[in-house]
Amino acid sequence: MKKLSVVIPCYNEEEALPIFYETFLRETADMDVEWEFIFVDDGSRDKTLEGFRALHQKDERVHYISFSRNFGKESAMYAGLEAATGDYVAIMDVDLQDPPSLLPEMLSGIEKEGFDCVATRRVTRKGEPKIRSLFARGFYKLMGKISRTEIVDGARDFRLMTRQMVDAILSLKEYSRFSKGIFSWVGFQTKWLEYENVERSAGETKWSFWKLLIYSIDGIIGFSTVPLAIASVAGVLFCILAFLLLIFFFVKALIWGDPVAGFPATICIILLLGGIQLFCIGILGQYLSKTYLETKNRPIYITKEQK
Ligand code: UDP
Ligand code: MG
Repeated sequence: MKKLSVVIPCYNEEEALPIFYETFLRETADMDVEWEFIFVDDGSRDKTLEGFRALHQKDERVHYISFSRNFGKESAMYAGLEAATGDYVAIMDVDLQDPPSLLPEMLSGIEKEGFDCVATRRVTRKGEPKIRSLFARGFYKLMGKISRTEIVDGARDFRLMTRQMVDAILSLKEYSRFSKGIFSWVGFQTKWLEYENVERSAGETKWSFWKLLIYSIDGIIGFSTVPLAIASVAGVLFCILAFLLLIFFFVKALIWGDPVAGFPATICIILLLGGIQLFCIGILGQYLSKTYLETKNRPIYITKEQK
């Protein structure tokens, strides 16, 4: 019998945890696999860890890792994948927005159809603020244009992977992790399952609009260097423009003389160019700061307790 590990990152999820555990076992009762649960406590400040300990006492298939502080979902997923020992590994949210009822279909995608990974994407964003959906759509469109790594719109982290693919993912040890990009970067054959958005079982979303915005910038910097090219292209364009203007004013001065005028325009141009320069330096700074973080070679997470 094959062993299937389920990695579940949790951050302040004391309410959702018991609901998850029960629903999961109920909905996957028919599946003919050996289960292993890897719960990751991402520095929760509520009773999530106590919940893990209780589950571990009761069920020996339950293992957990507890972080010394909140490192973010990306780090939690990495830690879980590292600890997982199964032939197949699934990543799931604890809030049941990733329905366990899809697992049998996912497993048959790998075992019967020969895929290396079965991933899921939601086709609707029902129950999400409009403005958030709008920005999310915009982000995926932009990524599609500027990155060679394909990032699928609406893709969730909920997926089932073979051991080979998990090992490939673990070999990418970068500090700034953007899993949606990493999953696609490592390659392998992925089958996509689509489903309607499900609302959270309990508790609240951990992602504010601001956190998502920063996360999307991480994604862009991590998987595209196009923003760096913007600086060069803008530089060349402005040089050409300046050269043409130079000729124009030179000829104009030769024919009509040179009455002093045009201060407001000069100031506007100085401001515009100053703005563009700062913008380009800002882009450079973003890449530099990521490089800086990577060269420090810090661990992706720090464990406080593991069972
Ligand atoms: N999560 C985490 N660390 C964080 C934020 C979230 O481990 O810093 C976990 C969270 O407990 C949940 C999953 O990541 O199991 C998805 O988070 P959430 O449901 O808040 O995100 P959403 O589904 O709204 O995108
Ligand atoms: Mg959720």
